[in-house]
Amino acid sequence: MYKPHGGKLIDRNLKGAEKSKAIADAKGMVQIPVAQETLTEMKNIGCGRFSPLEGFLGSEDLKGVLHNRRLASGVIWTIPMVLDVDKATAEKCSRGNPVALVFNGSPVAILHVEDVYTYDKAELASQTFATDDTKHPGVARVYEMKDYLVGGKLDMIDDSKEPFPECNLWPAETRRIFEQKGWKTVAGFQTRNAPHRGHELMQKIVLSYVDGLYINPVIGRKKKGDFRDEVIIKSYEVLIENYFPADRVFMSILPMEMRYAGPREAIHHAIIRKNFGCTHQIVGRDHAGVGKYYHPEAAIDIFEEFDDLEIEPMTVRGDFFHCRKCDELASERTCPHADDQKIPFSGTAIRNMIVAGEMPDPKLYRPEVFEIQQKFDKLFVE
Ligand SMILES: [Zn+2]
Repeated sequence: MYKPHGGKLIDRNLKGAEKSKAIADAKGMVQIPVAQETLTEMKNIGCGRFSPLEGFLGSEDLKGVLHNRRLASGVIWTIPMVLDVDKATAEKCSRGNPVALVFNGSPVAILHVEDVYTYDKAELASQTFATDDTKHPGVARVYEMKDYLVGGKLDMIDDSKEPFPECNLWPAETRRIFEQKGWKTVAGFQTRNAPHRGHELMQKIVLSYVDGLYINPVIGRKKKGDFRDEVIIKSYEVLIENYFPADRVFMSILPMEMRYAGPREAIHHAIIRKNFGCTHQIVGRDHAGVGKYYHPEAAIDIFEEFDDLEIEPMTVRGDFFHCRKCDELASERTCPHADDQKIPFSGTAIRNMIVAGEMPDPKLYRPEVFEIQQKFDKLFVE
């Protein structure tokens, strides 16, 4: 197992008396409301998923991230983690004076302000997303940001794990579990989907090379039509129970918002998995991509540009299908047969069948996964 990214696991969650004091102190501080997505990001910083970050980026670190894909310290970091505020709020913030970050009227963290600064949205967007097209969802969000940024370390008051506390583990916890299991090599699998047999095969190919598989669904704000979070979690539980050796696979979630920054985000995902204790990260074609903004292989190729990342990308190439002639799942890299022998994985077709309550072909979809999904009133985000 590698050390956490940057050398040590960050823990910015306040405990016991420190926490009570922070709640009391927060009352006398400037109060800055934060959005749900910002709070999620803060919690990821607090429990060390974003190690070595201890808070929101200051201007030097942001410059490094945008132009060198590294923090000012030289540690690889590809995604800007910043707190944006309006002018009136910025004027109330100054270096050395802590402020309270507030969600739903309650203080969730103390921010130790180190830097209050302006930034160039076009630069932030185009460096992060390799485009300044406002049709890109990540770029559009940058242009909606407020005009000032506040950087500094966080002390987290809110370290709650809702809404799925039983499968929402921190890096210190997963590292302990992987160690207990005796896994020397662990591959992290990123997903936002309920599993079909193509995903399962990919995971099992990877399991032939490493000791353990860490299935780590990203949970959070979703698009209309995406599988709901609880459906994804339940589907994986059933798949693991029925089709994986229990001592070779582990699942917990990653509450996080997708940014669709393609290759930069693939590196970000790898850093998070390294913090969880993974030695390998499974990287798919067009990983964290959207539309046609990134070359499908870009998220794989970018790993060659960082020789100090200390987590290995693993790529299972080829699109899977069931081949009647091979009588198994195959890809164009393994099967020589004509198209009329192939049953492809069509996300839309499978989905329509699930909605209609018809079982998809068991060659493509596990009946146990289908059955558990039928128990939900709502399968998809509306
Ligand atoms: Zn074949």
